[in-house]
Amino acid sequence: MLRRLQDLDVKSKRVLVRVDFNVPLDKKTGAITDDTRIRASLPTINYLLSQNARVILMSHLGRPDGQVVESLRMDKVARRLGELLGKEVLVTGDCVGSDVETLALGLKDGQVLMLENLRFHPEEEKNDLAFAQKLARLGEIYVNDAFATAHRAHASTEGVAHFLPSCAGFLMQKEYDYLSKVLENPAKPLLAITGGAKVSDKLKLLLNLLSRVNVLLIGGGMAYTFLKARGLQIGTSLCENELVEKAKEIMVEASKAGVELLLPLDLVVAKDLNNPSDHLVVPVEQIPAEYGGVDIGPKTRELFKEKIKQAKTIVWNGPVGVFEIPPFDQGSRAIALALAESTALTIVGGGDTAAAVEKFGLADKISHVSTGGGASLEFLEGRSLPGIEVLKN
Ligand code: AMP
Repeated sequence: MLRRLQDLDVKSKRVLVRVDFNVPLDKKTGAITDDTRIRASLPTINYLLSQNARVILMSHLGRPDGQVVESLRMDKVARRLGELLGKEVLVTGDCVGSDVETLALGLKDGQVLMLENLRFHPEEEKNDLAFAQKLARLGEIYVNDAFATAHRAHASTEGVAHFLPSCAGFLMQKEYDYLSKVLENPAKPLLAITGGAKVSDKLKLLLNLLSRVNVLLIGGGMAYTFLKARGLQIGTSLCENELVEKAKEIMVEASKAGVELLLPLDLVVAKDLNNPSDHLVVPVEQIPAEYGGVDIGPKTRELFKEKIKQAKTIVWNGPVGVFEIPPFDQGSRAIALALAESTALTIVGGGDTAAAVEKFGLADKISHVSTGGGASLEFLEGRSLPGIEVLKN
């Protein structure tokens, strides 16, 4: 169990909150192009303000690699947050040091301070103890609401928790609760859809799910290594030859465990992603040598939709086609729609899959779309996440 924010007395306290404000910025203007991550932390911040806490926020932004990078300062993020909260958000020129301490200690009830980019200091990513201690000096309570960085043991996500009473914010709790529902006592049948580019990226996920799921649907670039393992000719499709044997083993394991592992029946194949109009729909047994698979075909969409209808818990990680390039988004769109129409508990692992669901305008019809790409993948792989472990009783 995670220690929860609502169980601590935060009234008038200085609460140091790790948020994930690593928002995408426009390369030319530096403007924030998507504020989803800022909005995702509002429940925690608003709750703290309702308790008259003194809120000190900390995050990284981009990859400054331990140096001050002017374009990666937090002031624009603080401004956007201020607009969303309808109140001033104070900023600092640094995230540690005596000036910052003076500011933090001088905060009044209900004030909000945004610290400067944590990754301007190399000690952050090294989980340096002295640096974590300096951060801890700013607050009286530590709240971690940055699920997306919970798989990293950094000073602000792990180290600092050793120096202050600590707990999980509302976003962190939500992520943990939903993702746990896949791994612990899920309502059955449990169905997983895996896709994305490579088997190697999803191997640990597949192995962890194999002992838990009833049905496993495999699409995307990773399906071709499995089709090759079945002895099929896959043309120019993505393939990891070194994993063909592993794919065979996974199929044998699935059959032994009574898992229904389904691969595509038909495919959309293209010669060149730059020329999407030149594509064909073919059965998996008939991929022309000069074509490569870019999406699941219509028969597969129907089969997958049928299986999705029967499931009670569904987890989806990895698009089943090159969803960024229409019309090769049709397979992923069909999966997203099937999830949206399902009455099951539906969970979408972050990163590209979340982007796909957003693109189709269906995110609000899914029980939970994770805000963490790497973190949700590692969670579903069954690994312990350092930023979560320190928040457990
Ligand atoms: P991942 O980050 O591993 O979930 O991979 C997502 C990426 O996989 C997306 O950018 C998709 O375009 C890509 N992808 C999905 N299906 C295919 C495919 N059949 N061939 C190549 N790339 C694919």
